[in-house]
Amino acid sequence: MDNKLLLIILDGVPWCDWTRLFGNLEGWVAAGEAQRWKMRSVLPSISASCYASIHTGVSPQVHGCTGNANVHKLDMADIFSQVRRAEGVTGAVTHSFWSEFFNRAPFDPVRDIEYDEPDSASINHGRFHTMSGCDTANQMTPSDVDLFATLTMLCARFGLNYGILHTCTLDSMGHRFGHECSEWEHACAVMEEMLAPFIGKWRAMGYEVMVTADHGQTARGHHGGHEPAQQDFALYYFGPAKGPAPDTLLDQLALAPTILKRLGAPIPASMKAKPFLT
Ligand SMILES: [Zn+2]
Repeated sequence: MDNKLLLIILDGVPWCDWTRLFGNLEGWVAAGEAQRWKMRSVLPSISASCYASIHTGVSPQVHGCTGNANVHKLDMADIFSQVRRAEGVTGAVTHSFWSEFFNRAPFDPVRDIEYDEPDSASINHGRFHTMSGCDTANQMTPSDVDLFATLTMLCARFGLNYGILHTCTLDSMGHRFGHECSEWEHACAVMEEMLAPFIGKWRAMGYEVMVTADHGQTARGHHGGHEPAQQDFALYYFGPAKGPAPDTLLDQLALAPTILKRLGAPIPASMKAKPFLT
């Protein structure tokens, strides 16, 4: 496999706050260096259900993850398994749910917090965190700059073809403070200032880059249900492929087959949505 792509997921950022608060990303869109669309999540718009749909390209009604308390190994084709079939190298810097869905469950922190498994049929190079003990008064998310650096290290050390980074910092901040406040706006600004220099680094390393969310949030910091504030978010794409008109509403189920197509990996029959990049 020659192609390389990184998927960056900032958990829980709704459409209105991407376009309002992420000045570097919006600046790159205005300058023609990135393309941006609105994407709508599956239902329920709950994190674990969305993670499973992002990677399998099937709805929660098919993969069966009904929420964050129902995380188990999914026996379905997903982005990791298909990249491995095409002999690509995979990596993940994410919440431990991703390891449980796609590699093995339950998550054993000592065994699974960090692994390098070159022969794996799923995740070759994983660096995970559990957020154990996290609640609205006790945020247990890692520093995002550490996560961005870890992904960059995996790319440089192992030559990842596909890497995913997922961080819950902003989702947790939205749950704590809601969105109509300085705490939320400051957190988005800090996140973007940490992220922006890495996008240039990853592009220089030959990666196409996607930056997006798993679902939105209401102004009170809620998600899970069926309305645009809870389901809609932005997807930014840096790379040479062309997408649909900028005002097209994308389906979250199209993300997995689109990524596989960009990487030149086979799209399994279970992924029914049409890729949106050509
Ligand atoms: Zn989430």
